[in-house]
Amino acid sequence: MEVLRRVFGYDAFRGDQAEIIDTVVAGGDALVLMPTGGGKSLCYQVPALVRPGTGVVISPLIALMQDQVDALSALGVRAGFLNSTQDLTERRRVETAFLAAELDLLYLAPERLRVPDTLDLLGRGEIALFAIDEAHCVSQWGHDFRPDYLRLSVLHEQWPDVPRIALTATATDATHAEIAERLQLTEARHFVASFDRPNIQYRIAPKNTPRAQLLDLLTTEHPGDAGIVYCLSRASVEQTAQYLCDHQIPALPYHAGLDARVRATNQARFLREDGLVMVATIAFGMGIDKPDVRFVAHLDLPKSVEGYYQETGRAGRDGLPSTAWLAYGLQDVVQQRRMIDTSDGDAAHRRRLGAHLDAMLALCETVTCRRVQLLAYFGQASTACGNCDTCLAPPESWDGTVAAQKLLSTVLRLERERGQRYGAGHLVDILLGKATPRVTQLGHATLSTFGLGTDLADGEWRGVVRQLLAQGLLGVDADGYGTLRLTPSSAEVLSGDRTVLLRHEAPKAARAPRAARTSRRGGAPAAVVGLDQGAAAIFERLRAWRAATAKEQGVPAYVVFHDATLREIATLVPATIDELGTVTGVGVTKRDKYGPDILVALAG
Ligand code: ADP
Ligand code: ZN
Repeated sequence: MEVLRRVFGYDAFRGDQAEIIDTVVAGGDALVLMPTGGGKSLCYQVPALVRPGTGVVISPLIALMQDQVDALSALGVRAGFLNSTQDLTERRRVETAFLAAELDLLYLAPERLRVPDTLDLLGRGEIALFAIDEAHCVSQWGHDFRPDYLRLSVLHEQWPDVPRIALTATATDATHAEIAERLQLTEARHFVASFDRPNIQYRIAPKNTPRAQLLDLLTTEHPGDAGIVYCLSRASVEQTAQYLCDHQIPALPYHAGLDARVRATNQARFLREDGLVMVATIAFGMGIDKPDVRFVAHLDLPKSVEGYYQETGRAGRDGLPSTAWLAYGLQDVVQQRRMIDTSDGDAAHRRRLGAHLDAMLALCETVTCRRVQLLAYFGQASTACGNCDTCLAPPESWDGTVAAQKLLSTVLRLERERGQRYGAGHLVDILLGKATPRVTQLGHATLSTFGLGTDLADGEWRGVVRQLLAQGLLGVDADGYGTLRLTPSSAEVLSGDRTVLLRHEAPKAARAPRAARTSRRGGAPAAVVGLDQGAAAIFERLRAWRAATAKEQGVPAYVVFHDATLREIATLVPATIDELGTVTGVGVTKRDKYGPDILVALAG
């Protein structure tokens, strides 16, 4: 507790932190499942400071070790790291410091344990604890598997008396069990936190003109904010980044096809500078602990709820209001179904991918609270949240049985004409009675359903197709044309044995529900929302000071202070250094280092 206040400047532990820390300080093992932003780092950092010796942290995130060490140094914590990016002199320096008991924390890449020298080195120093970060990397079936993690059982064998704490934000029951077994932590205390992220507002909008919709979101709700935009393909990453830059929004691309140096530079800029937008494939993001990411936008449908939750979880680690926004349309469903059908692997693998997609689609099409559905997916019960699009503007549903019958019977008729290929567009043309050249050429104007669907507009029909696909009442061929097919369940609809409930599409639902929009001040970055004018002005001054200071020291802005801390300073306007020291996030080291500057900035 004393360490929490003095070093980190925090007043109270969050959730299970206190109990986890007590367990490890007392020499016990712990397995911790906590969502991103839940505060996992303190769970091993505090015990490392309290127990004699050095806390050894195993982490796969080599690219971020320097930032982690910088952030700790800024707090006055003595930290170092060993990984493959260092030269020999640098490594020797860290090793010497460790042996001289001059390190509180030592970050270690898992592959270092392959080198016998490393185990030998650890054997010659005093170890306070082992922390195994991103512990789900030990899961062979997970998406982040690292073979070197399997080696970690050696820690327990060689140092049976040193407490171990494994941490992860990836949460399904199966992964949990696998981590416990492979790391020999079945005897450890397990802490499973709630996975809710109440400060993130979840929104899923129909995709019309995705880039324009995105631009609207950024200019009306997140001007000047940092955020991540996920796209499926490298080409669309490049184009979207360019589009945003063309519209005066500073954006950087990130995907696996870029040169490693460019990627590293873009990542470093995103972490260090304020207000940059990273447009990326899902290659970007693991371990990014930038606390002030104000929005995560998806321009394409994620492949699974796990992926979606992990990616959106990168927003708002600092607990301030943030947005998770996804644009989703018919093309997404067609494309993903096709990717699954043509994917490598056996039938069981394809079934698994299909089940992941179905869960994601169910989330998109739900008429009830998004958060309730998300948490239920991770096995947690909850009640309507009031902070997602379906809570803020409940969608209406309508009886789409007749519409579905019209559509499905058109598909049935076309299926009888063998060898034909046509996507949703052609079907909708037929229903609307449009005699396009293709319709005429194929003789489809004579079908009995031709012109039978003029009660709905083009966009509404596409919505019907999408929702039928999502509900499994319509299928799609892997032929590259997106040819629509009946499924075994289609017959029940055609025979009238099954009613179909559909969601009403608001034609221009690109924007936030009104309640969400008005809760933010027009045109202001999310970080100053809720501050009065005076405080907002001070906040901006402090932010400018922080940017200059961070640049001078070559560290990310949040290493100096988090937005939440600057907000509190701007509201409190402390008159003395001691008063400044009471602000959350201002520990003794930072108080003494930055205090005088801050007081000057406040007076200015
Ligand atoms: P995780 O690793 O679980 O994603 P972090 O350890 O990075 O999360 O913590 C998320 C944020 O919450 C950080 O900015 C951290 O400084 C802050 N934080 C953690 N614990 C506390 C606490 N007890 N009081 C205030 N802030 C905290
Ligand atoms: Zn809700």
